[in-house]
Amino acid sequence: MTKLVQIGKTDLRVNPIGFGANAVGGHNLYPNLDEEAGRDMVRAALNHGVNFLDTAFIYGPKRSEELIGEVLKERGNRSEAVIATKAAHVLTDDGEKFDNSPAFLKNAVDEALGRLQTDYIDLFYIHFPDEQTPKDEAVGALKELKDAGKIRHIGVSNFSHDQLKEANKDGYVDVFQGEYNLLARDAEKELFPYLAGKNISFVPYFPLASGLLTGKYDKNATFDDLRNGLPYFQKGAFEANLEKVDQIRPIAESKGVELAHLVLAWYLTRDAIDVIIPGAKRSEQVLNNVKTLDVQLTQEEISKIDQVFQQ
Ligand code: NAP
Repeated sequence: MTKLVQIGKTDLRVNPIGFGANAVGGHNLYPNLDEEAGRDMVRAALNHGVNFLDTAFIYGPKRSEELIGEVLKERGNRSEAVIATKAAHVLTDDGEKFDNSPAFLKNAVDEALGRLQTDYIDLFYIHFPDEQTPKDEAVGALKELKDAGKIRHIGVSNFSHDQLKEANKDGYVDVFQGEYNLLARDAEKELFPYLAGKNISFVPYFPLASGLLTGKYDKNATFDDLRNGLPYFQKGAFEANLEKVDQIRPIAESKGVELAHLVLAWYLTRDAIDVIIPGAKRSEQVLNNVKTLDVQLTQEEISKIDQVFQQ
């Protein structure tokens, strides 16, 4: 049995290896996704105790939440899953914008509950900050939803340090989700010390830098999805990143573990982090990432990995 961990000050108890479900029905992010493969990833996760599922309105849009809702319904055991979802996107004719207004958030939660076919969301994040809403007002709306039992915990994502401080004026923020991986470590500077002081847990997204940190790509790799726009994959940066990955390959080899698991295990040694949400395209990847829990890192290995990726 996997030892469950508590996410920060919440009462959520989860497998430290969660599942980021942006490729479950995330047709707007990845071309040619098979929806049944998406449902299968959710089933595989829950069958193997990967109980923390991370989704959002914008994955699909809507389809990721809907497919997760279908699987929850088919299994009939809502309490086996800890569901985190997010909203803020408003789709317009010219693209998208963000809304954090109380009215928007209240409606967004009601709609997400419908898509997920549930009467509560374990963790609801404001996905991105808008420019106009005071952040304590936005979080105040989530507190009302929490008091009404529609959401259990409050999160914010992609907020600046100042926005987070404003959002947490009344101490209501439970979880912060932000970009963090060995190639993107800005969060360590200001954010981690603030979060530690407030006992807010940090959930890193892009833990594998969209697959780059698994060590499976070489410099000739090409991509036809969201990776084309990510800084890690741009010419010059991509090659430099691959060189860093090669420098930690011997550590994985000497331990007889996969590079992906070495990297994921390293995040779980960070004080700010309780749970990680690697994404996947196939059930095998979801299950494979659970092997991270078998990786024990020595202090020397932790420091070596740290040094290679110091920016
Ligand atoms: P990621 O976790 O860094 O990378 C996941 C990708 O790596 C998979 O889709 C798969 O892609 C590859 N992979 C996964 N496990 C592997 C394994 N064991 N061996 C080899 N390759 C493996 O990136 P992400 O999925 O974009 O991010 C994780 C989650 O964070 C998302 O699902 C989403 O829930 C969340 N997120 C949140 C935000 C936000 O704004 N809050 C933004 C982005 C993501 P390939 O097989 O195609 O290589």
